[in-house]
Amino acid sequence: MGCQHLEELYELWLLGALSEQGSLDLRDHLGRGCPQCLARVREAAETVYLLGLAPKPVRPHPRVKAELLRHISRKTTPNR
Ligand SMILES: [Zn+2]
Repeated sequence: MGCQHLEELYELWLLGALSEQGSLDLRDHLGRGCPQCLARVREAAETVYLLGLAPKPVRPHPRVKAELLRHISRKTTPNR
């Protein structure tokens, strides 16, 4: 049984973006232990995982940073 058509669905499935019918089909297929698909799902899971963890350059706005620092120093130094 060919399952090439499932290839692009794994990422969607893992992200929960697949239709109910689609995910049912996929799970049914995986339930049959198709080694090709199990390998692909593992690959897709890795991709999704890496995408989720992709480092985003976060640079706090200078004013936000200054405010944060003020908050911190106010908390750590006794106000006398
Ligand atoms: Zn398969």
